[in-house]
Amino acid sequence: MVLKLLQKKELEFLESIFYYDPKYHGFYGQQVSQKITQRINKNEVIKIPNTGHYLFKGEPEKIYYKMIGDVGESLTLTSGVRSIVKQTKLFLDKIDSVDGNLSVASKSLAPPAYTYHSIADFDVGKKGFGFANFTPRFALTEEFLKMRKLKYIDMRYTINNKDGVRYEPWHVKVI
Ligand SMILES: [Zn+2]
Repeated sequence: MVLKLLQKKELEFLESIFYYDPKYHGFYGQQVSQKITQRINKNEVIKIPNTGHYLFKGEPEKIYYKMIGDVGESLTLTSGVRSIVKQTKLFLDKIDSVDGNLSVASKSLAPPAYTYHSIADFDVGKKGFGFANFTPRFALTEEFLKMRKLKYIDMRYTINNKDGVRYEPWHVKVI
C-alpha cells in the first residue's frame, strides 16, 4: 500500500482537534495524551481472545481477568486500548452522528487527547447484549450488579461526574 503524505492543511486540521481546549463546549476531563504523535508500543499490549480488543499489560490485564473470575464468563471486554488515531476517528464519527454538536458528542466520547483508553481504562459488557452495553441498561444487568460489589473496581464516569461526561457504568477506571 502506498501512503500519501498528509497535506499541510490536513495536518493542521488533525492538530487542531488534538490540541484544542474542549472546556469551551463543556468537557472538563483531564488531558491524558500530550502529543499527537504519541504511539502505543505493541509490546505493552495484549490481545484479549474472542473480543477483538486489546488491553495494556500489567494492571489493566490483571484487573480484567480478576473481574471475569469474580463476575463470570458472561462478562466481556467491549473496548480496550485506543490509539490517538482510533480515538480521533471515533470522535469525528460521533460529531457527525450528532450533526456537529460538540457538547453533545463529548458527553459520550472524549476528544482524542482526553481518553483514558489510550493509557489504561477499558469498557466491559454483557456477552450478547450488543449496543445496550453502552446504555444505562447495562447498569441493570446481573453482571453489573456483581461488578459493583467488587472492592477493586472503580467507575470513572459516575452519575453527575465533574468531567461533564454521561453516566458510564461500563467504563472501568484503572489509573
Ligand atoms: Zn470507555
